[in-house]
Amino acid sequence: MAPRRVVIKRDVIDGLLSYCHDFHPREGILLLRGKTKKDEIEVNALMIPPLPVHSETYSSFPAHMLPLDTSILGIAHSHPNGVLRPSLEDLNNYFGRLMIIVGPPYESEANVALFDREGNRAVYYVV
Ligand SMILES: [Zn+2]
Repeated sequence: MAPRRVVIKRDVIDGLLSYCHDFHPREGILLLRGKTKKDEIEVNALMIPPLPVHSETYSSFPAHMLPLDTSILGIAHSHPNGVLRPSLEDLNNYFGRLMIIVGPPYESEANVALFDREGNRAVYYVV
């Protein structure tokens, strides 16, 4: 079976960039929402997680506080140091189907990277 194509709405990309920019030099963290179709995952909204913690090297929230909501597809967070790669801890805490890491200068989708569960960079389409 072919993997599902991931599409991300333009305003989600813009929202991620400005949110993470505002938190810099701390990490920002947001939930990704959208819908899963047969051959496509569409990210169309962002949501601030409950009780988020932001530091310069770490961002998190208590996962048990998450609403039981199938529209939550994964987590986006920023790496203010600019390393667009998941840490081991990120991979151990992979949530849902998608992981996005955002880095400075927070200007375009070149600063927004998608990763699969194995930590491999994945392609997405902006619509
Ligand atoms: Zn991280």
